[in-house]
Amino acid sequence: MWSGACAAGAGPHSGGETAKGERRMVREICRDEAFLAQKAEDATPEDLPVAADLLETLEHHRAGCVGMAANMIGVNKRIIAFDDEGTYRVMFDPEIVKRSGPYQAEEGCLSLTGTRKAKRWRSIKVRYRNEKFQERSKTFHGWTAQIIQHEIDHCEGILI
Ligand SMILES: [Zn+2]
Repeated sequence: MWSGACAAGAGPHSGGETAKGERRMVREICRDEAFLAQKAEDATPEDLPVAADLLETLEHHRAGCVGMAANMIGVNKRIIAFDDEGTYRVMFDPEIVKRSGPYQAEEGCLSLTGTRKAKRWRSIKVRYRNEKFQERSKTFHGWTAQIIQHEIDHCEGILI
């Protein structure tokens, strides 16, 4: 594992020639708060390899992490990956379009030390694009909804 802050842009790259994303790789976790505080840009189909690496990195950290946003691996795009009750999902350009049931949560983050309080919603409806960049929307509740809210915050440059 590398150490140090993320460069503005991509971290260590898989080396290209990965049109189908076979060579997924675990990337370094970005802990540079100035980088993480930037608002992420919209994703494009060219970012599919980033999503593959994001999933690989999330699975690598599965013992202590249930979701990740692309800026956590040094790529400032609106892409998140998370554990949806045992199934890993990826979303491009996720956006919360409906929310209900506010509560106070306490969360940790792989990019930060310790835990912090955050206001969350028990139920959210998310609009996003799937791997084919088709627009979709889905409602999530409870723990999964909380993970998604944390990761979407990352896309907005918000750290808990
Ligand atoms: Zn986080």
